[in-house]
Amino acid sequence: MGPSTWLLRAEYLHIEGAPPIDEVDRIAGGKPTHFGGLISHSVMGGSERTHLVWEFASLPEVRAALTALHEVRGIDDPHVAPTDANRVMNPGAFEIRRSEVHAGKAICPDCRARIPDYEDTFFALQGTYPGDEVVLRCERCGLPMTWLILAEE
Ligand SMILES: [Zn+2]
Repeated sequence: MGPSTWLLRAEYLHIEGAPPIDEVDRIAGGKPTHFGGLISHSVMGGSERTHLVWEFASLPEVRAALTALHEVRGIDDPHVAPTDANRVMNPGAFEIRRSEVHAGKAICPDCRARIPDYEDTFFALQGTYPGDEVVLRCERCGLPMTWLILAEE
């Protein structure tokens, strides 16, 4: 794989005790891209959510951000995805058929472990169709990576 950059995405819940978004940006440490037109507000379950996205130059930086955000109130479902530039540099990476996931062919980009067909994977794939994005969590290191589901041949 060529040089690659990564996105960390998370949901920000506007709940009591959640730090302001600029403080969350400081904690995450990446380059915020959520104010570049990607910001969206919607009402779900009574609380307002904002979609946050940061860009990082390496997976170790993303992992540090995941760790730093772990205890932050109001942050939900943080997950990693390749940037568009990363996808151009590495065509076909993080694109997979459901059958290949079940066969254990998804490889964690960080620790290089095979992601097994285990409980997390089962739930991640439920109700998904080709063209959907799913987050497959590495059983060994816990990295939540976004994959694009391809049609079966
Ligand atoms: Zn891993």
